[in-house]
Amino acid sequence: MTEIVETDVLVIGAGIAGVGVAAALAGTHKVAILERETQPGYHSTGRSAAIFLPNYGNDVIRGLNKASAPFFQQRDVGLFPDPLLNPRGSLTVAGEDGVEACEDFVRNGLGVEAIDIDRAIGMVPILNRDHIKAACYQADAWDIDVNALHQGWLRKATALGVELYTKCEVVGAKHIAGEWQVETDVRTFRATTVVNASGAWADVTAGLFGARPLGLTPMRRSIAVLPAPDGHDTRGWPLVDDVHEAWYIKPDGGRMFVSPCDETPVEPHDAFVDDMILAEGLYRFEQAVTIPVTRVESSWAGLRTFAPDRTPVAGFDSEVDGFFWLAGQGGYGIQTSPALSALSAALIGRQDPERAVEPLLAKLSPARFD
Ligand SMILES: Cc1cc2nc3c(=O)[nH]c(=O)nc-3n(C[C@H](O)[C@H](O)[C@H](O)COP(=O)(O)OP(=O)(O)OC[C@H]3O[C@@H](n4cnc5c(N)ncnc54)[C@H](O)[C@@H]3O)c2cc1C
Repeated sequence: MTEIVETDVLVIGAGIAGVGVAAALAGTHKVAILERETQPGYHSTGRSAAIFLPNYGNDVIRGLNKASAPFFQQRDVGLFPDPLLNPRGSLTVAGEDGVEACEDFVRNGLGVEAIDIDRAIGMVPILNRDHIKAACYQADAWDIDVNALHQGWLRKATALGVELYTKCEVVGAKHIAGEWQVETDVRTFRATTVVNASGAWADVTAGLFGARPLGLTPMRRSIAVLPAPDGHDTRGWPLVDDVHEAWYIKPDGGRMFVSPCDETPVEPHDAFVDDMILAEGLYRFEQAVTIPVTRVESSWAGLRTFAPDRTPVAGFDSEVDGFFWLAGQGGYGIQTSPALSALSAALIGRQDPERAVEPLLAKLSPARFD
């Protein structure tokens, strides 16, 4: 006979979204997390560039960034012994066609200062003086220790009784007498609330529960790992990006991650690099620097999943009972995860979310697509 597991909240997906909300609900709710892969964090969460940029994203994202910052800065040292954020800084550069955009960014970004080309090249000596026509810098940009955040939340959740089921794919669901009966390839689960934290698969998952898809689109993004250029120590370099998002460099250890900033709409899948897209992106990068790309050590791709308005979705479905969306975090799902986890747990527990995020709730709600 199939084993039946009874719980209050069933979270689908063990990426940063699922694990974050499970940790926030643990202690007050009986929670189970279901993950199709053999390990949590295998998809987008394990493939991010791991950057916290307060100025990144639209107004709602910036609100979530602001609400998330104290969690990172005043971390719970019992859960996260090492800092979750390490200073990086962010340098934005522009070619001929980006000077105005750079000026706009200085006007509208918080803590963004225009700097001269000499200072920019002083920070990152491989920048090509013939190409760069404007530059600006924000000191408030950090590397995020994504693994420490994800694992810390997972430790908290399991210590408080949350069960994690890996190799457990949700394949169907029925709503019977106010309760979800959820079928996986191994067990059956019963719960009053289901949280759809299934990343790129969120619209597919919604279909299993009879909820209308919201038009979430997974977009592939690739990263190439390059060795440090000869004679350069990249460790102290800031993040460097092109103002039109044609490429970016994220220093990592002694190497450089270079992304072509691709955003190719794809079906949800285990993402892999398109060599042609990567080559085109590396070509754009080469125009802005003085070094040729002679060797790509490795590369990877992941999916950044966006709602049509590029704002995350967090809230109960307006038509399907007990079905909660936590999806569409795009390229900001790690840095916004503290605020999104906390507000989702509050809504699921029928509590008031923190004051700071209240004005954002309607803009995050799936009802905005009704
Ligand atoms: C290249 C790249 C760079 C990025 N850089 C940054 C950055 O610098 N800063 C930042 O904040 N964000 C960044 N992001 C975005 C961030 O990684 C994502 O927003 C975030 O990881 C999304 O987390 P998630 O938990 O929703 O999705 P995921 O981590 O993909 O987790 C969803 C999980 O659901 C599981 N699942 C799906 N369907 C089912 C099912 N039917 N049954 C069981 N399990 C299922 C999947 O297996 C998966 O593990 C980046 C993303 C990429 C790809």
